[in-house]
Amino acid sequence: SQRLKDRHALITGAAGGIGLAVLEAYLREGARCTAADLPSEPHPAIAGLIERYPAQLHYVSANVSLGESIDAMMAAARGRFGPVAVLFNNAAIFDMAPLLESDERMYERLFDVNVKGMFFVMQAVLRQMIEADLKGSVINLASQAGRRGEALVSHYCASKAAVISYTQSAALAMAPYGIRVNGIAPGVVDTPMWDQVDALFARYERLAPGEKKVAVGKAVPLGYMGRPADMAGAAVFLASDEASYITAQTLNVDGGSVMS
Ligand code: NAD
Repeated sequence: SQRLKDRHALITGAAGGIGLAVLEAYLREGARCTAADLPSEPHPAIAGLIERYPAQLHYVSANVSLGESIDAMMAAARGRFGPVAVLFNNAAIFDMAPLLESDERMYERLFDVNVKGMFFVMQAVLRQMIEADLKGSVINLASQAGRRGEALVSHYCASKAAVISYTQSAALAMAPYGIRVNGIAPGVVDTPMWDQVDALFARYERLAPGEKKVAVGKAVPLGYMGRPADMAGAAVFLASDEASYITAQTLNVDGGSVMS
């Protein structure tokens, strides 16, 4: 199907596990996509997609925690495909440490990307949407970590709780314009980020490499760790007109792990 035909979607963190899977799904649904991530050159998987969808995709190097970089990304996006109608606000980083060792540097690093970056990318896109009179859709990546604290993961959990809160405020502010703002809260998804999570748990909980990953997969009610492609259905749905009466929600896409 072509549920996003000709809509311009901006995907941040597009070279990551979830970003790539959603980018591919958006292209299949007919969207024109701006893929943004940190490296100056596109990730090989993105380069491959540009070859497959030359008229539908371009890559922009951007750091979402820097205002000037957001401005340049927005200008490049608009220059190529016009105003952004769908934002998949996905770039984020992870780190963990025992609470008493969770210092200011870790706080600043995580909040600079996960909260400040997420918010100001959203604000820039909303301004473009309003200026162009587009009834767009924004999807912010939260996490099950934003629903519940964790002893070793305090800064990351708090950053994702902030995403859920900004999603609600932005949805209310944008409702008069017909712009929808929702979130997705993944559970555990097998991506490069989770390789880092696993390595950190191995260190702090004295586990063998890979042990945490197996354990969290088994703990999911549906019985397995999510694959990046498991996020794509919700990402397409929330971007599409099928979700036209849904706003201010953060949808758990987690195999049944969280119930509220
Ligand atoms: P990932 O690490 O595979 O991908 C994240 C991407 O964001 C990377 O390509 C990275 O280069 C990019 N990025 C980081 N900092 C950036 C910056 N300052 N500017 C631009 N790009 C930047 O992570 P993922 O697992 O695909 O996660 C995607 C989103 O889903 C994140 O918001 C994450 O917090 C959230 N999430 C993931 C999981 C999971 O289990 N993997 C669970 C819950 C939530």
